[in-house]
Amino acid sequence: MPPVSPPRAWAEIDLAALRHNLGVAREVSGCRVMAVVKAGAYGHGLEEIARVLADEDIAFFGVANVGEARRISNAGIDTRIYLLGATWSEERAEIVDREWTPCLSSLDEARHFSDLATSANKRLKCHLAVDTGMGRGGFVPEELPCLLPELEALKGIEIEGVGSHLPSADEDENFTREQFTRFAEIVAKLGGRDRFEWIHLSNSAGLLGYDNSPCNLVRPGLMLYGISPLPGHQQRLRNVMSLKSRVTLIRELPAGHGVSYGREFITERPTRVATVGAGYGDGYPRSLSGKGTEVVIQDRRFPLLGRVTMDQIMIDVTDTTVEVGDEVELFGPDVRVDELAAKAGTIAWEILTGITPRVTRVHRS
Ligand SMILES: *Cc1c(COP(=O)(O)O)cnc(C)c1O
Repeated sequence: MPPVSPPRAWAEIDLAALRHNLGVAREVSGCRVMAVVKAGAYGHGLEEIARVLADEDIAFFGVANVGEARRISNAGIDTRIYLLGATWSEERAEIVDREWTPCLSSLDEARHFSDLATSANKRLKCHLAVDTGMGRGGFVPEELPCLLPELEALKGIEIEGVGSHLPSADEDENFTREQFTRFAEIVAKLGGRDRFEWIHLSNSAGLLGYDNSPCNLVRPGLMLYGISPLPGHQQRLRNVMSLKSRVTLIRELPAGHGVSYGREFITERPTRVATVGAGYGDGYPRSLSGKGTEVVIQDRRFPLLGRVTMDQIMIDVTDTTVEVGDEVELFGPDVRVDELAAKAGTIAWEILTGITPRVTRVHRS
């Protein structure tokens, strides 16, 4: 047996909070849920999160690519899997075989899926992606009325759903309202609820901030993990991931002593400095340096000193009882990840998905 060596940094993941947030998504939208679990369930652990959500009667998992779809299927989970992005042609035989659900952006893709499914004696369920403003994928709405009969004629595929995506539901309310209206009109023109089993438009912000009655499916990601892209809805959600570390050293530095690379911070007084075992090598952004960033130790906030290094950060714990071994919350219920994101000049999504493999994930039910 090797000697026990606890991780320097770990992420505690509260699965009860995840279930609670899923409940909020259902209640607010009145729709079925496609749980978006791309990028390792936003850094929370793909298989672990998918296993929990699979027991909660969700309609689909939304993943970015075939690699993620494989991991869910290989874990023995049989909830339907929806591929949010475009697929390589080499991947499509497996998609047909495993009955994952692609979204279509072109007639060529549709024909290829149809041919593969026909030769496998199958009919693959697909969704139409419609570009109502994101500019990333999907059919341009104007081309659809003319293309739909051609798509419908393909024997190997069944177009069971239609979806679109919101580029600015957390930034531009007028555009988004108008986008909901346009999407509803397009869907109606294509045959509406009678024609499509699944109609979906909303990410977390669209789900929380808008009337989803034109749809019967929503695609939340971030809010499942406890962060609301619209601040007004934050209090309904529960924090899921807490990034934690421990104090590894406590040192007394005299006034006038530099702290960390570049010596951007110089002590102004004798300072008790705690060194903590996490840094940008764990995904704690280096861009938090010099931004008034704080961490929580013993239920109190303490300031970060100087630059974030790869494996360690320094904290001012002058005049406190903080000791070596004390637990440190880098983000979690007390310092929310969106607070850190704002300081780091980024978004919560990027910080969560940037927590590196070195960080041990601890799942708690
Ligand atoms: C990532 C993604 C979502 C989830 O977005 P959140 O803002 O995290 O809720 C929904 N739909 C599509 C197409 C996506 O790519």
